[in-house]
Amino acid sequence: SIRAKVMLYSQYGQPDQVLRCVSHELPSSPKGKEVLLQTIACPINPSDINQIQGVYPSRPELKVQYGQSEPVAVGGNEGLFKVLAVGDQVSGLKEGDWVIPSNVNFGTWRSHVLSEESALMKMEKTISANQAATIAVNPSSAYQMLTLFEELKPGDWFIQNGGNSQVGRSAIQIGKKLGLNSISIVRNRDNLKELVDELTGLGATKVITEEENASKEFGKTIAEWTNGKPIKLALNCVGGDNCTNMVRKLGQDGTLVTYGGMSMKPVTIPTTMFIFKNITAKGFWVSANIKRIPGSRENTIKAVQKMMEDGDLVDVKMYENPVSADASEDQVYQAFQKALANSNKGKQLVVF
Ligand code: NDP
Repeated sequence: SIRAKVMLYSQYGQPDQVLRCVSHELPSSPKGKEVLLQTIACPINPSDINQIQGVYPSRPELKVQYGQSEPVAVGGNEGLFKVLAVGDQVSGLKEGDWVIPSNVNFGTWRSHVLSEESALMKMEKTISANQAATIAVNPSSAYQMLTLFEELKPGDWFIQNGGNSQVGRSAIQIGKKLGLNSISIVRNRDNLKELVDELTGLGATKVITEEENASKEFGKTIAEWTNGKPIKLALNCVGGDNCTNMVRKLGQDGTLVTYGGMSMKPVTIPTTMFIFKNITAKGFWVSANIKRIPGSRENTIKAVQKMMEDGDLVDVKMYENPVSADASEDQVYQAFQKALANSNKGKQLVVF
């Protein structure tokens, strides 16, 4: 049998206080439609943390499982797994294949898992493991937001905040592939030029700071860049003043799409933007979207994977926290806690 390590919680709270690692036995020979998996890599996404804090609307049910006396849930929603063995009724997977969960709330923060085949989506090994481990949430959201709200044509402009986030970096690259011009707002920092060069290297047309975004004067520079073309779409994952100032850049009939709230501040939109610019403000949630549009998860992943295969979406910077699949509970716990603690310093992956 296999000793699987799982990062679980029985109460909502801060991950460093409520998460613990426990182990349980899994049979090495799965039965029927079951598939035995070993984790390759799983990311720490902001929504994973919000789920554990108990402030995210969709979260796994707490259940008595894994030999625990109280109801528990396993952290993590995304990840890449390797098939170790399949039951005799599994038709579409074999040992060595790569899979990702077909749905959210899978509980990906663990070393091994026994899953039904129907809960898994096979991934062709045409992209890197890190890309496959993170394809379902961030690049897929960027792709959907750029294609579902406005009919953007080559040469059109969009603007976004959180330009340095994984979603932002994906939007920059997907936007470039679609022939779009982008303005990405980032927070100022000591090595700003390094970040601007990096994002420009990914295909960003322009990168500006929050201070430039807030400056009336700077608005003229932006109007020069766009040559009077209206900015049609604004993607917001920050809220607060950053978002208010970004909305002011939208052109006639433009759309603001809010998909995150990293500043924890509400979205405030100037009245004039509604009345005189007739803008539309909408929300986006990939989990709801893939339910609303059947097949959209698979289709989006396919489209994004093609861009990765073609080199249009490159491996973006991620920090790997390595741990062996047969490591002790404490070692697995430490790897996840380190990744969680550093999750505000760039995208963290736990890699088995
Ligand atoms: P990352 O962990 O890669 O990056 C987080 C980003 O947020 C960083 O660029 C960081 O800026 C920025 N940030 C953090 N705090 C603030 C702040 N107070 N003001 C301005 N910027 C801030 O994030 P992801 O790409 O994984 O996710 C980005 C956002 O998108 C999250 O809010 C996430 O919940 C949301 N999301 C929503 C989805 C949906 O369906 N609605 C789907 C996917 C993601 P810096 O670089 O300066 O540190």
